[in-house]
Amino acid sequence: MHLLLALLLAIQDAPKSPPPAPAPAGAKVNTEAEADAAIAEFKKAFSKGDLTSTRVDAVKKLAQVKHEKVVRQLVPLLTHALEDVAAQVAVQLGSHDHHAAAEGLAAAVGANLTAKRPVVVAASCSSLGKLGYEATSATLVKLLDKNGDDDVMLILPDAIRAIGQIGSASAVDPLIDLLRKTESTGGGGGPGGGGRGGRGGRGFGRDDDMAKLRGPVTGALRAITGGDADSANGWDQWWKASRAELLAGAKGTWICKTSWDRVEGAAPNKKPACSHAADKGHDSCMVLVRVRLTEPPAPAPPSPRDGGGGK
Ligand SMILES: [Zn+2]
Repeated sequence: MHLLLALLLAIQDAPKSPPPAPAPAGAKVNTEAEADAAIAEFKKAFSKGDLTSTRVDAVKKLAQVKHEKVVRQLVPLLTHALEDVAAQVAVQLGSHDHHAAAEGLAAAVGANLTAKRPVVVAASCSSLGKLGYEATSATLVKLLDKNGDDDVMLILPDAIRAIGQIGSASAVDPLIDLLRKTESTGGGGGPGGGGRGGRGGRGFGRDDDMAKLRGPVTGALRAITGGDADSANGWDQWWKASRAELLAGAKGTWICKTSWDRVEGAAPNKKPACSHAADKGHDSCMVLVRVRLTEPPAPAPPSPRDGGGGK
């Protein structure tokens, strides 16, 4: 995965352009007028850009403006013919906390897999994990069954990590199934066990690849459930015994579509009142982000300082 990472970093290091209308202090979302202006400017720059880097810069500049309209402008570019553009869009959408960004990212995973663009898929998985919208978990879980496909294998660790970050309980059984498959391939029990196996001619390092999934799968199971076990059977038994109690204590994360303010730890099946609404009890702007059994994993912390207001 080092190659993918290097490519992503290279994309992010592309030449900088001056920042557009900065997000208003203390607010997460720009005004519609600011979004319209940024989109108009983007369209001009993007259509004139005859260099990939010009278009990538235009995407980065537009993505600094947070608004649903910007999200809807960016999402179709996930399948843009220029892979660098699509990858940059996938990275940038990860900082737009709107369900349309998550749904757009999930919807484009299949097309980018088919087009053999693992960098775009890996970036999409990373953003999906960051956003954490439960509705997108199923798209990623479906990939677990395609572990026979080399293209899927390449991005499967990214997909599995994202599944763990999202934390949907519905992913637990498919993850245990995959863990079982990794145990039945080379090196079975032994930690880090060779897995070179004597099956001549069957794929290249396939058993090794399966063995490498064990760590991410176990990490995702821990992140979702808060439990631990040392084998698929162990996980299966623990999950069957603990599931009902964990589900009964599950907590919902909600978000206001207008202000992009999240409400954590609320009841999963009852909309909380929105904090931005002036009229009490107003909740039509609230959407469910996800339901989790445990506290969400801490987002890779840049630094614990900054009391807020900055972004
Ligand atoms: Zn609201």
